[in-house]
Amino acid sequence: MTVATTPNKKSSSKQSLHRRHCSCVFAAITNVGQVRDHNEDAYLASPPLFVVADGLGGHEAGEVASNIAIDTIKAKGRHIETAQDLRRAVEAANAAIISGARRNLGRAGMGTTLTAARIFEGKALLAQVGDSRGYLFRSGRLAQITQDHSVVAAMVRSGSISPEEARIHPNRNVITRALGSDPGLEVDTYEYETLPGDRWLLCSDGLYGMVDDSAIEKILSEVEDPNRAAEMLVESANDAGGSDNITVIIIDVDVETATRNEHKRTRAKSVATFAGVIAFVALLFAGLGVGIVQYARSRAYIAASPEGTVAVYAGVPGSVMGARISKLSDNTTIPVNELSAIDRAKVESEETFNSKEAAMAMIEHYRESLASQSSTETTTSQPATNTTGTGAAVGTP
Ligand code: CA
Repeated sequence: MTVATTPNKKSSSKQSLHRRHCSCVFAAITNVGQVRDHNEDAYLASPPLFVVADGLGGHEAGEVASNIAIDTIKAKGRHIETAQDLRRAVEAANAAIISGARRNLGRAGMGTTLTAARIFEGKALLAQVGDSRGYLFRSGRLAQITQDHSVVAAMVRSGSISPEEARIHPNRNVITRALGSDPGLEVDTYEYETLPGDRWLLCSDGLYGMVDDSAIEKILSEVEDPNRAAEMLVESANDAGGSDNITVIIIDVDVETATRNEHKRTRAKSVATFAGVIAFVALLFAGLGVGIVQYARSRAYIAASPEGTVAVYAGVPGSVMGARISKLSDNTTIPVNELSAIDRAKVESEETFNSKEAAMAMIEHYRESLASQSSTETTTSQPATNTTGTGAAVGTP
């Protein structure tokens, strides 16, 4: 495993892309803030997967942990389809950090929070450990979707302090769950239907610790461009003191892209269907053609040649789709017009045979028939001749 550190320690690192297959537009920024000297946050923005990890442990070990988590989930990315897959990937990241610490990567006890989301085709899956957050901004309202694993969050849930008191509580940074310590780590998962126009926000506590939810909501509602909105959130956190590293990912489930992709999918499906029909018809015709050619090759017929003689053709008379499917095989010197009326009619009607041999046999028959006809004529004419010459010979057989 490669342990990459967040590339830009002092300033912002950002990423924004339009990915068609995600049907979303996103922007991601991580920023060191105004106080820390290095950035222990890490993120992954690789649609449909988005992850924010906030490293803990100090002395740069935190960024080793957060980057191990990101690398592990990135490596599992293609296999993550369900909430269970996402949970398993986070568990693998946890195991990788624990084993990394044993191999002296970073420090023993290093850890990271993690908020991961897979946003795809109308569904948002989230996995959560620690106090990074996943928010949904829909119809102008911001809602925190994930539940923090922190001391103050538990106190807010039990009603002992208000959310406003939690923001300034001395234990506000104490988290109750993180990757990197417990091999039996419990990962919360969430599953949401997501709608075109939804805006998802993943962030580290460096954002919401500095900028309250109503100010985040205002920026998300007023700034349409996700890049600009992400920049403004980071600026707001820095303006408020920037006491921690700040990481923000905004994912807009985009109406236009989603609709356009849906049209593309429908069009692709129609084209595929049409192509399928064409291919089927072509195959049918090809098959039919092969059948016809095979049938034709086995057949023969007798017809008049262009010279008016009796000829044998291989194939069958006529044409298929404009193409003749026969060729002259054997020509003869037998003039068609010398055949008997019956044989001439057969030739003119292009009588077909199951094989060339059968056709040749018929040719032989015509030849014999013609020969016998001519011999009969000769025989018949001879007596006439003889009548005038050797009548006695005829009269005495
Ligand atoms: Ca932090």
